[in-house]
Amino acid sequence: MPDDSAKSPKLSLRCLGCSREYAPPAIRCPRCKEPLLRTEYAKTDFAPIERDGIFKFSDWLPPRETVDTPIGPLVYRSDRLAERLGLKRLYIAFNGYAPSVGAMNMTGSFKDFEAFPSILYMREHGAESVILASAGNTARAFAYAGTLLDFPVYIVAPEAMANHLWVPIVPSDSIRLIVVAGSNDYTLAIELAGLIADRFGIPPEGGVRNVARRDGMGTVILEYARTVGAIPQHYFQAVGSGTGAIAAWEASIRLLRSGRFDGDLPRLHLVQNAPFTPIHDAWTHGIPIRPDLDVEAQLSRIREVRADVLANRDPPYGIHGGVADALRDTDGCTYAVTNDQIKSAEALFAEAEGIPTGPEGGAALSALTEAIETERVKLDDSVLLNITGNEDALLKRDYTIHRLKPWLTLRPGKVSKDGVKRLEPYFRTD
Ligand SMILES: *Cc1c(COP(=O)(O)O)cnc(C)c1O
Repeated sequence: MPDDSAKSPKLSLRCLGCSREYAPPAIRCPRCKEPLLRTEYAKTDFAPIERDGIFKFSDWLPPRETVDTPIGPLVYRSDRLAERLGLKRLYIAFNGYAPSVGAMNMTGSFKDFEAFPSILYMREHGAESVILASAGNTARAFAYAGTLLDFPVYIVAPEAMANHLWVPIVPSDSIRLIVVAGSNDYTLAIELAGLIADRFGIPPEGGVRNVARRDGMGTVILEYARTVGAIPQHYFQAVGSGTGAIAAWEASIRLLRSGRFDGDLPRLHLVQNAPFTPIHDAWTHGIPIRPDLDVEAQLSRIREVRADVLANRDPPYGIHGGVADALRDTDGCTYAVTNDQIKSAEALFAEAEGIPTGPEGGAALSALTEAIETERVKLDDSVLLNITGNEDALLKRDYTIHRLKPWLTLRPGKVSKDGVKRLEPYFRTD
């Protein structure tokens, strides 16, 4: 097939600092450095195609190529939970694995929405492998997609989370797990992944800078628009980095610009698990986010939280296009909920909807309960509750699970330029 990509680019990337435009796969504006780049697609109309899975939104995803997969966001109108809460228009985005409602995300969280688009996009731009740090769900999503697409993925994870890394297929040999021994610190894993990426020239997945990640996660809002024919007034999500929330904001902007929808941007309601709530503390109490300060105290709070995938010490909060901008632009608000509140919300969800949710879904629901009590949400407002993932019981029921085995283990003290230099033999490509 002739490649017309030079003539008709599918997208460009706009710097949110200086508004200059770049061609893919840029991940930073060379002048502004810090601000995010945002995708602008040639097709501005919202016209999802009839197809299963996430690539029904292919027009607004960075790669040209698509994959047949049932993975994708699922939005349905709630009856029972809505009734329990007194809400008239509650929609649930169930982004875990629950065949009974048609949610077929094979690693059980909305990280599945970023893995396929990211790998395809990177591969189209010449990458031969990718490295990422993950506290769990991103690693699983990439291990799964990397196996299906036969693409090498280096995963760096703290040991405390490495035990949860499994996929419902036999992972390919080119899925390589690098473990930071005795650590529960996701931020340290991020640092190590960065060092390895620099030293051995392995393209980083990019975290919040990865537009395929953001646009993949943004499909939750697109799916709401597709099924409901509108943009929700409120969006509830449990956040760690806040990338999913930024994505929801960006997707909503894109939908409004399509001219097909009335109304305003959805109000973002972002929730974290006390006692570790840096985004909430920054937004609600003006406490600066300092990943470098009192690290031990932060780690000990992290050990206490039920929803440990939310424990990110260094979220992209203050940068142009980051979490604070998203909250400002949407008149958003944040919440801190306790383990006990999360547990009761998990029970309420399972009982009312008949599907198990994970603690992140529980956290989002507990924030919704609070928002109803404080009348931030009115009973006839439209609400999208993002259940970002569920516990693994259903996946384990339906599939044989395969753990990722460590390919390399490193002590936290070795996470340094020098420590990484000694890993040369592992990454030699000859
Ligand atoms: C990653 C994750 C989140 C948090 O998403 P961010 O976009 O990183 O804030 C919430 N829930 C689940 C299940 C996740 O895997």
